[in-house]
Amino acid sequence: MNESETTKTDPIQLSVVVPCYNEEEVLAQTTAALSQVLESMVAQGKISADSGVFYVDDGSKDKTWNLIKQTAHENKMIHGLKLSRNRGHQVALLAGLLNAPGDAIVSIDADLQDDVQAIEKMVDQFLAGSDIVYGVRSQRTTDTMFKRITARGFYQCLATMGVDIIYDHADFRLMSRRAIDALSQYSEANIFLRGMVPQIGFSHTIVYYERAERAAGESKYPLRKMLSFAIEGITSFSTKPLKWVGALGLLVCLLSFVLTGWVLFIRFFTDMSIPGWTSTIVPILFFSGVQLLCLSVLGIYLGKIYMEVKSRPRFFTDETV
Ligand code: UDP
Ligand code: MG
Repeated sequence: MNESETTKTDPIQLSVVVPCYNEEEVLAQTTAALSQVLESMVAQGKISADSGVFYVDDGSKDKTWNLIKQTAHENKMIHGLKLSRNRGHQVALLAGLLNAPGDAIVSIDADLQDDVQAIEKMVDQFLAGSDIVYGVRSQRTTDTMFKRITARGFYQCLATMGVDIIYDHADFRLMSRRAIDALSQYSEANIFLRGMVPQIGFSHTIVYYERAERAAGESKYPLRKMLSFAIEGITSFSTKPLKWVGALGLLVCLLSFVLTGWVLFIRFFTDMSIPGWTSTIVPILFFSGVQLLCLSVLGIYLGKIYMEVKSRPRFFTDETV
């Protein structure tokens, strides 16, 4: 207990994890901005001198990795890790979080859209006892109308599906060592950090910041990647779509029974039925209803298997006395 209290009063070791994919145009600016923030905090005695920036090169096709290596030689605060190939933003970020040293780790994009000044506020919150500090955008004025609408839809859709997610929080956040250790126990292959981190629990706070335009280079998230990211978020955290199919199955099944009654009524009590019509329509209605219902029962079990196969950790101990 005492030990953890002393680590919080001594300067802490901080790592800033930055995933990079083809970011040669902006990297020098990022290094300058981050080193300035870190050096100022070292001078104030908030973080120790062995704090640093941890770049993760996500299989870039340009000179990003060479630049990282070169900067690491010149500046002892800069470290790098290169992934074997492009694995996507989320995996690159996770690789950085699981490999960077430090009592606390901040993750931030390479393009300086997230305000680096907010890092100090995050560290202050950490020193005040928060395990996770979420960076949340105070407004979206720098976004296009399209991005604003799709982003709103994305967060709302996830919330409807029962995914615990922080509104307007991207992947700019601080995590304590024990939160990182908890995260490392998630063995799932489909990574959606925005859903995983709130699941960990522990104490958390929010730091608001204004989001800027990309400093240089262009977005690595075209619409196609945004859509697959949203689908990943939903299907990695929710089995609700399966349950909805189940509800639909039940509905269609009931409807088919009603329609069967109607078809039989036409056959026996009116003279409107064509020969062969009843014997064709009744089985179609009946079996399609039963099939959908059975399919939905399968879906429920499939959903359970899916959640089990993830073998997620069931709890983390917050404190012991
Ligand atoms: N990124 C990555 N791998 C990828 C795509 C993106 O590591 O396959 C990184 C990228 O270098 C940046 C961050 O993820 O640091 C966010 O990407 P970007 O700024 O292009 O996304 P946007 O802000 O446009 O949503
Ligand atoms: Mg960006």
